[in-house]
Amino acid sequence: MSSARRIYADHNATTPVASEVIDTMVQAMTSVWGNPSSLHRDGQAARRVFEAARAKVASFLGANPSEVVFTSGGTESCNLGVLGAAGARKDGRRRILLSALEHHAVSEPCRHLAAQGYTVETLPVDASGRLRLDAALAALGPDVALLSVMLASNDLGTIQPVRELAQAASPQGILVHCDAVQAAGKLPLNVRDLGVDLLSISSHKIYGPKGLGALYVKRGVPLAPSILGGLQEQQRRAGTENLPGVLGFGVACDLIAGRLYAQVERLGRLRARFEELLLQRHPQALINGAGAPRIPNTSNVSFPGLEGAMLAINLDHLGVAVSTGAACLADAHLPSQALLALGRTREEALASVRFSFGEGNTTEDLEELVNRLDLAVQRSQIAPDAMEVP
Ligand code: PLP
Repeated sequence: MSSARRIYADHNATTPVASEVIDTMVQAMTSVWGNPSSLHRDGQAARRVFEAARAKVASFLGANPSEVVFTSGGTESCNLGVLGAAGARKDGRRRILLSALEHHAVSEPCRHLAAQGYTVETLPVDASGRLRLDAALAALGPDVALLSVMLASNDLGTIQPVRELAQAASPQGILVHCDAVQAAGKLPLNVRDLGVDLLSISSHKIYGPKGLGALYVKRGVPLAPSILGGLQEQQRRAGTENLPGVLGFGVACDLIAGRLYAQVERLGRLRARFEELLLQRHPQALINGAGAPRIPNTSNVSFPGLEGAMLAINLDHLGVAVSTGAACLADAHLPSQALLALGRTREEALASVRFSFGEGNTTEDLEELVNRLDLAVQRSQIAPDAMEVP
């Protein structure tokens, strides 16, 4: 089986880089390698292509180019959004709200703010993995500085009511940050339509290069920079610009915007077929988040009685790449916070595997995936020391 075609079903962890993106980046590194901040012609040539790429990213978000700050990725964007917005507020508001589903890129900066004396409150989700709008609306108030809610959960794929919340929060002077890292490329994205003040995306989740992200900062929203030492990005993020990365990111945004609707529909059909086949063969499986609207590519499944990590390892041996939750926690064997938040037991949470499909996956892939899954489930029921590694 090890020589069989590999099936990559972990697109929420990262995506392969599109060939058009690679071509653009290679071209950038060979021909426009000037420093965009230099005043000479080489610098100005670099500045022109850099700003053209910014315009592409801005257009993808429905923002003005001046509202886009480039960062080193989704993690930095979320950190800058949360810490930068809270740090720039000088009106004495000291409460921060975040959803129970937030990625560590948001929850850790919030924890940092708690250590500095902010009151940080976690908003609950319902059994389908969707933020409880009633509880969230009740928590808003004149002392809230910032609300951070992701648009789509990385673990479950569930879509959160960001627009409704922003509509209620903004008139109360509350800044709204949205982690849209997993929604980008899987849902139409428009910052004005969402009504948020800050929004984070990451290039490597949309077939662009790793180590590149963007933070949308609505015009007029003050932001305290986290990285100091230069005037780049309108003094919101210091450091010589990652020119090839940004050019690649711009192309990735253009490509995904062009293919979005077709992909969303195709991936939705693929996932529906996958879950149908899966439940036929494993009727005891629990599809986490299935009761809520979800981005079309993500299927988080608990296999009661099994260990998700063992199942993922067996799948890997059989040529299938999946994840057991947040990729950055893959070594830690901790239950997913998102699954605990929606009421799964610790055992059910540890029994979960996340399948996340993408552009390269076909219907044949997923039928083969389900066949391999059968085998992986059988192998995962055997005591680990009795297991034969293929
Ligand atoms: N936010 C969410 C929801 C994510 O899924 C991730 C990455 O998995 C991040 C933030 C961090 O993005 P990056 O890997 O670009 O730092």
